[in-house]
Amino acid sequence: MRPIQMVDTRTQYHKIKPEVDKAVLDTIESTAFINGKPVHEFVANLSSYLGTKHTIPCANGTDALQIAMMALGLQPGDEVITPSFTYIATTEVIALLRLTPVFVEVDAKTFCIDPAAIEKAITPKTKAIVPVHLYGQSAPMEEIMAIAKKHNLFVIEDNAQAIGCDYTFSDGAKKKTGTIGHIGTTSFYPSKNLGAFGDGGAIFTDDDALAAQMKMVANHGQSKQYYHDVVGCNSRLDSIQAAILNIKLKHLDEYAAARQKAADHYDKAFSSSSKIKTPARASYSNHVFHQYTLQLEGVSRDGLKSFLAEHNIPAMIYYPVPGHKQKMFEQFNTASQIMPVTDWLTERVISLPIHTELDEEQLNFISSKILEYINK
Ligand SMILES: *Cc1c(COP(=O)(O)O)cnc(C)c1O
Repeated sequence: MRPIQMVDTRTQYHKIKPEVDKAVLDTIESTAFINGKPVHEFVANLSSYLGTKHTIPCANGTDALQIAMMALGLQPGDEVITPSFTYIATTEVIALLRLTPVFVEVDAKTFCIDPAAIEKAITPKTKAIVPVHLYGQSAPMEEIMAIAKKHNLFVIEDNAQAIGCDYTFSDGAKKKTGTIGHIGTTSFYPSKNLGAFGDGGAIFTDDDALAAQMKMVANHGQSKQYYHDVVGCNSRLDSIQAAILNIKLKHLDEYAAARQKAADHYDKAFSSSSKIKTPARASYSNHVFHQYTLQLEGVSRDGLKSFLAEHNIPAMIYYPVPGHKQKMFEQFNTASQIMPVTDWLTERVISLPIHTELDEEQLNFISSKILEYINK
């Protein structure tokens, strides 16, 4: 059996190696390392894949969120509602810009932000909502957009974990996640569903004025060369990464299908265990399985994790500490917030290896070892 990894980017690379190697070498030969042809091609291809008017490439998914918030002109003290149960990047940039993160609960089934909790958290200072499509499944965007409209709020979708995911509206219309809010952001970190061979990120919008503002912010606040209108930053996707991403984008749907197949295998293996809750599928979204995350009931998570490690099966806890309990946010006095769903999840979730290259033998081995431990 091939060794089991959380993510196997090497095997995936080997399947497209000649094309990737040529694209990388051609880019090196062109010496257009910054803002070269592959960047423009990738921007056009990704816009058309997602069905968005504008794609603004940038250096990583954290910058993407930061640039989005800077471009919206949010002011220190403005409140931004976001789930407590997410990766730190989502919430860190809020505080970095001296905005106030307002943490709310997630839904225990989908792991995504709970619209009822959003409504309750709205104050006259609220300016934006940042839903996260956690683990590869959409947050309930139709409800979120309705709340945003009612209260005149911006919505920035953190789509770092769900690129390629489809959201279905109640009238049957479909949109890609990241293109539903006023702005969407994503990351091309190597382990993400569309991963570069280094860092990268992008921002999406259909709004021409916002797109122009975000391009300007990402490029030193520059309106024309050497004229800087606003305080910006320097955030670029380089040509080599864009050349690689251009090739991998063609495979994104097939990568999602491979992840879904692995998830189906796990679902089936654990279907009769009362101690394991497999990830629920939302009615309004498909699932691109950036992570496959179980909730354990009456099973020692640490015990399972070390048992799996003894058999060379990695597993991860995404995320052991919720945002509202991070030391970083002490200044916002959030630690005493009562968040039973979030607290429950941080104590019970465990994410299994999931990627595009898992074979039947590996999946059988992983699921049989988990069942062996659970049924001991
Ligand atoms: C990975 C990730 C980010 C940040 O992406 P980087 O490219 O690592 O900066 C932001 N939000 C979520 C939910 C992520 O998973």
